[in-house]
Amino acid sequence: MSEVSHLLESLATIVGKDNLKTNPADLAGPLTDWRRRYHGKACAMVLPASTQDVSAIVKVCARHRVPIVPQGGNTGLVGGATPDASGHSILIKMSRMNHVVAVDPVGNTITAEAGVILSDLQAAARASSRLFPLSLASEGSCTLGGNLSTNAGGTAVLRYGNTRELCLAIEAVLADGSVIGSRQGRLNGLRKDNTGLALAQCMIGAEGTLGIITRAVMKLFPLPRAQVTALAAVASPDAALRFLERAQMHCGSTLTAFELINELAVTLVERHFPPARYPFATRHPFMVLLEISDHDDQAHAMQLLEGLMQGALEDGMIGDAVIAQSVAQSKQFWALRENISEAQAAEGKNIKHDISLPIASIARFVEATDAALQQAFPGVRMVNFGHLGDGNLHYNVSPAAGASDQALLEKQDAINAIVYAAVERFAGSISAEHGIGQLKREALRLHKSGAELAAMAQIKAALDPLGLMNPGKML
Ligand SMILES: Cc1cc2nc3c(=O)[nH]c(=O)nc-3n(C[C@H](O)[C@H](O)[C@H](O)COP(=O)(O)OP(=O)(O)OC[C@H]3O[C@@H](n4cnc5c(N)ncnc54)[C@H](O)[C@@H]3O)c2cc1C
Repeated sequence: MSEVSHLLESLATIVGKDNLKTNPADLAGPLTDWRRRYHGKACAMVLPASTQDVSAIVKVCARHRVPIVPQGGNTGLVGGATPDASGHSILIKMSRMNHVVAVDPVGNTITAEAGVILSDLQAAARASSRLFPLSLASEGSCTLGGNLSTNAGGTAVLRYGNTRELCLAIEAVLADGSVIGSRQGRLNGLRKDNTGLALAQCMIGAEGTLGIITRAVMKLFPLPRAQVTALAAVASPDAALRFLERAQMHCGSTLTAFELINELAVTLVERHFPPARYPFATRHPFMVLLEISDHDDQAHAMQLLEGLMQGALEDGMIGDAVIAQSVAQSKQFWALRENISEAQAAEGKNIKHDISLPIASIARFVEATDAALQQAFPGVRMVNFGHLGDGNLHYNVSPAAGASDQALLEKQDAINAIVYAAVERFAGSISAEHGIGQLKREALRLHKSGAELAAMAQIKAALDPLGLMNPGKML
């Protein structure tokens, strides 16, 4: 019997034949990333049902020296969940580990398996009158394990923080098959626990390179009594920043989202997601989508937002404003924001930059970098949107009108060099919330110090001495 047959037989013994997939038709989707930039190969895809299964799979793979690539919803935007082209890897698909284990309404926590879909986790919290605030446009497909492994951000970071801030405990399987983070199968989820190094923190944002997350305890919050959404037209990122400052002072902790969207981004959504339509009578260079979450009632929330908008209109800080009058209208507003990535994908290729900057520098960054790009590549079009309240921009470059996708892609390195040099100059980060994966591996080397890269490599070598955990990603 060949080495591969031995491996597959051992894996089938762990998960059962039906949960070991080698058929190309079953593997095609999981082996291509969401943006269709990366196409990998794998010797098989295995679907574990428990932490014990994952541990046993990892031990078998370690014995056979076979690389392991964990995958959740496959919505990552940096190629982190796609194996390389060698065909030697085993893809571990977490979709069967999709259960919410427990909701603790006193401790305000939720415990779930890593393969649970984010929107199912939110729904389980809501069923107990609690809020799990992590919210992304991909929430119908992405998983808790993927969210933790990429330290996902999303639209409510302004008020509740990134996934890292929402996590109280993680259970994970390390490269030798050992399990950390639980004892006798129990995760503790303590809010205070200063017993040595915080190993769970190492797993967050590690993109599967240090181990496989199997379960986690996450924070919950009281469900707000009212949420009101509005759109405000602004002339520039600078005006948006002044409006952000005003909104934070006016609304305090009720301000839960503050998203910037440029006009081209909305145009693409109108084009590819009918009946989406522009919300103002005249076109404006930018708009802001903001939301407040209130613990009094709808009338109080409305009054607060109306007061903010009226003052900003009177002062000329915003050019127009519309407040959603119903849940349906609020959803329409959010659809303008949440469909941007898909509208861009439908339009053709673009060069994405998920960057963060000191918030006060964002307007100067946009002005300087737009000008530098126009000078180098006249006519390129900017699809610029993001979580302004977190200093996070999705600063994406599309081809000039009439130019081909291919012509743009040929300029990718030069465009990245301009954008990332500006990010460096303004003391920002080249990856705000999507991670490094395959896409930004080279860029990471250029934007971290030698000491930082060496420390990361030492941690990786200590936890994964054979280099089998998601090789070729991040480091
Ligand atoms: C339309 C759209 C909108 C998006 N909006 C946002 C946004 O607002 N904010 C944001 O942060 N991201 C956003 N994303 C990116 C993406 O949804 C997130 O990165 C998400 O957290 C990935 O989850 P996933 O389950 O799909 O992970 P995958 O894509 O399957 O994997 C992502 C990485 O995590 C690793 N991984 C997955 N599961 C595990 C596990 N159990 N243990 C260890 N490693 C694991 C993978 O190996 C890979 O490196 C968006 C994506 C799309 C398509």
